[in-house]
Amino acid sequence: MSIIYSGEITCPVCGTKTFRYVEILYETPFFGNVLLQSGYCSNCGYRLFDVEYAEVGRPIRVIFKAKDGIDVAKSLLIRSKTGVIYSPDLGFSLEPGSHGEPMITTVEGFMYKIIDYAERLKALEPENAAKIDGFINTVYEKIEKGGFTLIVEDSLGKSFIQPYRPETVTVEYLE
Ligand SMILES: [Zn+2]
Repeated sequence: MSIIYSGEITCPVCGTKTFRYVEILYETPFFGNVLLQSGYCSNCGYRLFDVEYAEVGRPIRVIFKAKDGIDVAKSLLIRSKTGVIYSPDLGFSLEPGSHGEPMITTVEGFMYKIIDYAERLKALEPENAAKIDGFINTVYEKIEKGGFTLIVEDSLGKSFIQPYRPETVTVEYLE
């Protein structure tokens, strides 16, 4: 870890020199070097906290086909804040904007997160409850038995799936 900057600079919002700002470079195992930024302006109250990738890779598409429950339980999903995850056969997509937090989990853990999102959606759209329940039951079944595809696309090349069996993953580089 190294401190790139620490001090008071011009506030990007109100323009006075009262913005206390820290920038730290930190090496992470999956995302490489990241830049952690935080700051607070004592004049206008503006707050900043962000993580930026200090190194970027090539745009990547990772296609993972879970053959059975072992692939689901023992493969890892590493999703950066720029990664999109979708499943053409299960019919869902997680965009970076709406659910953009980075995550490192098993594919099984990720599928439970999808169930969480579906349950939240059910609370918002009670008229679609029967359809959403059908989706949730399908996801539970797929966690147990496999037989689905997950695709991860990342314009900065920071997301991937670390498979339990190498033959379940195909990597494509996009231009
Ligand atoms: Zn300010």
